[in-house]
Amino acid sequence: MTQSIAIIGAGVSGLYAAALLIEKGYDVTVFEARDRIGGRVLSHDGFDLGPTWYWPETETTITQLIERLGLPTFSQYAAGDLMLERQFGVIERHTLPPGRVVPSMRLGGGMASLTTALAATLPPNTIQLQSTVISIKQVERGVAIGLETGETQTFTHIILAIPPRLVSGIVFQPELSETTKAKLASTPTWMAGQAKVLAVYDRPFWQDKGLSGQGMSWAGVLQEIHDASQPDGLAALFGFFRLSAAERAVLDRDELNRRVINQLVRLFGEEARHPCDVLYVDWSSDRHTAAVEDTAPLTEFPVYSPIPIDAGWEKQLSFAGTETDALFGGHIEGALRSAIRVVDPL
Ligand SMILES: Cc1cc2nc3c(=O)[nH]c(=O)nc-3n(C[C@H](O)[C@H](O)[C@H](O)COP(=O)(O)OP(=O)(O)OC[C@H]3O[C@@H](n4cnc5c(N)ncnc54)[C@H](O)[C@@H]3O)c2cc1C
Repeated sequence: MTQSIAIIGAGVSGLYAAALLIEKGYDVTVFEARDRIGGRVLSHDGFDLGPTWYWPETETTITQLIERLGLPTFSQYAAGDLMLERQFGVIERHTLPPGRVVPSMRLGGGMASLTTALAATLPPNTIQLQSTVISIKQVERGVAIGLETGETQTFTHIILAIPPRLVSGIVFQPELSETTKAKLASTPTWMAGQAKVLAVYDRPFWQDKGLSGQGMSWAGVLQEIHDASQPDGLAALFGFFRLSAAERAVLDRDELNRRVINQLVRLFGEEARHPCDVLYVDWSSDRHTAAVEDTAPLTEFPVYSPIPIDAGWEKQLSFAGTETDALFGGHIEGALRSAIRVVDPL
């Protein structure tokens, strides 16, 4: 009998698991809560509001997959000096010693090119959008998943490819053990407390001044800034916030934008004053990424590892997702590796 497998989550890990299972001849359905694929991967007109980079020197799975899918790549722009903003208005320009910046790569069309290309390898109708899974129950002929809409469908195996903390929103029958629930609840969702802002310009004016577009700040709203320009398109600077989710939540968008632009002007000059567009996504308020606990800033890189499967569920349940990968957990590389780990034994 062909095993029918349900994958919960159409992020990188869910999509890659689906592609691998289809290659093996399985019957696969992917259930995705949002009205789009990609999860934390989100590109707007080629600009990345989720992940931007991969690192070919260490990340072999993503590097080989991108080559296999034939996706266009280019190097992160990093030539030139870095701007550093210290407290009390002190701004410094630094020339980094050669080899200081670990080379990273980007995808033409943004990181969504990867998820779009993965989804394109799947048979039509494999992915069901706007399908939030709220229950997983063992039944006589397999495992029944229940959707928010009230619909149920039965499969032989379920792969959960969602952030571990969001598993608490799904009712299991029989219930998961207290140990597993505690492990899921204590696994932080990588970058879920962050927000990303992107200021779009018609030209990369900072490059003309010998600046890389890289900025670090101990004082502004943004902690880390990088060039986000497209090779043959518009120029942009993007930043990660120094403000916590709680600090951002009390500012309205206009005020936040004003502070962002003022900081870019302080670091890169008056030309930063009038962007053509400002894009902003706060992942901490996205219920399909962040749990309430994720809004607290992380103080160190979490230690990730596979989630053990409770006795009685071994044949019917697997946990994928980047937060389950021991080596590259947090990164897209970890999401891909987690898919391979759960698909291999099936
Ligand atoms: C701002 C930001 C910057 C980042 N930068 C980088 C970077 O430069 N390089 C890098 O390698 N990584 C980066 N990351 C991390 C990277 O985005 C993640 O590692 C990767 O996208 C995780 O993929 P995933 O499939 O494991 O999870 P997700 O992308 O979170 O996918 C999970 C999916 O499950 C869905 N879902 C959740 N609950 C349910 C439910 N009950 N029913 C159905 N569907 C559900 C969600 O909607 C989502 O689509 C960044 C992340 C962010 C937010």
